[in-house]
Amino acid sequence: MGAAGSGKGTMAARIIADYDIPHISSGNMFRAAINAQTELGKIAQTYMDRGHLVPDELTIAMVKERLSQKDCQKGYLLDGFPRTLKQAEAFEDIAREIGRPVEAVFNLTVHLEDLKQRVTGRRICETCGAIYNTVGSAPKVHGICDRCGSPLVHRSDDTVEQLGNRLHEHMVLTQPVLDFYREKALVHNVDASRKPELVYSDIYSILRLLR
Ligand code: AMP
Repeated sequence: MGAAGSGKGTMAARIIADYDIPHISSGNMFRAAINAQTELGKIAQTYMDRGHLVPDELTIAMVKERLSQKDCQKGYLLDGFPRTLKQAEAFEDIAREIGRPVEAVFNLTVHLEDLKQRVTGRRICETCGAIYNTVGSAPKVHGICDRCGSPLVHRSDDTVEQLGNRLHEHMVLTQPVLDFYREKALVHNVDASRKPELVYSDIYSILRLLR
């Protein structure tokens, strides 16, 4: 968990590489639905473009369907879900049904000024999911993914204006989710304003203890 720009996607990519489990990012799933112009995508876009959360019913149904697939039986990494208390409660039932309860919740914390820079400079590859930043981690060739050669895009919600809405929703709606998991003693706070290597090293040490 963490605000927009806190590095959830970057850390998720490292975790799934080390643990060989599926990366389930609700944001990526919505973006894929938008690109494929599905009914879900069309509805999600109207919320995402304004920096608002997609309604719980749609989000829960989408994630539930994904978690019921076979590859999640060996474990999974959720990124960007649950983001509301209602999602967290629904997820408890889903996790119980598939016999894979939450083992750890990472809360990535970053200062506001850093978030602004990260979000406005972020460029993503929609083909392979690689994440770059115009400041600090630019691709070798401007606008082109190092890994797969596809063009990079600037997400339409990665603007300072939308960041304001996204942070507000994060505070109001997502804070209770953290409290929900804090009560279960599952939350690990990680200072994510540092270099990705250092952030991941903290996460990895905690994951090793879980194993
Ligand atoms: P992300 O890529 O995680 O930053 O998500 C991008 C956008 O997708 C968010 O600002 C929301 O509009 C939408 N979204 C992603 N995950 C959720 C979720 N769990 N609940 C509601 N909306 C979501």
